[in-house]
Amino acid sequence: MQKQGILIVFSGPSGVGKGSICRALIKEDPSILLSVSATTRSPRNGEVHGVDYYFLDTKSFQKMIEEDELLEWAEVYGHYYGTPYRFLQEALDRGNDVILEIDIQGALQVKERFPMAVLIFVVPPSRLALESRLRARGTDSNEEIEKRLRCIECEIKMACHYDYIVINDELPRALATVRAIITAEKARSQRCQFLLRDLLS
Ligand code: 5GP
Repeated sequence: MQKQGILIVFSGPSGVGKGSICRALIKEDPSILLSVSATTRSPRNGEVHGVDYYFLDTKSFQKMIEEDELLEWAEVYGHYYGTPYRFLQEALDRGNDVILEIDIQGALQVKERFPMAVLIFVVPPSRLALESRLRARGTDSNEEIEKRLRCIECEIKMACHYDYIVINDELPRALATVRAIITAEKARSQRCQFLLRDLLS
């Protein structure tokens, strides 16, 4: 029996550094795949269709919903975002681990459909650190930044629904914590039934 990959879901306030954690994980283990979401938001400078997101108009996004092509979807900061289902299921079936970097509404939908998904919530060391990071990123307008800052409190209150909380004070430390979580999750007895069956046969 082929071992299924694990589904790892990262959420956290905008600017907290989820993207850096995900990129670093994938760089050190290319068998971990990052799911590319669909969105109706416009591309930022340097973002590429099919790499960062599938940038769609609202009609095409709605068509994906109607045709049941999305594992989950949500409206975030006034735009639609969703996870294409087929890529994810095929990757997990091949034994690849898959990372989703999605918002809280989406993460909770994923947990319902994939109860063994591992939900990780990334928090900043302080509110101030997050605000300066969001401004220093220089990729969003002031209005967009204000919109994102207004959501922080509600987002942090939802962190209790996650399996793990990781503080991103320094990237290497946060990464070490995430690696430890993944290692422990892979050793969960529920995931290792195929090993036990082999030993008994
Ligand atoms: P950004 O516009 O900064 O790329 O993303 C805004 C928010 O949308 C982030 O919190 C990000 O995690 C979330 N997001 C990105 N892709 C998806 C997705 O496929 N589904 C959901 N529910 N949220 C997503």
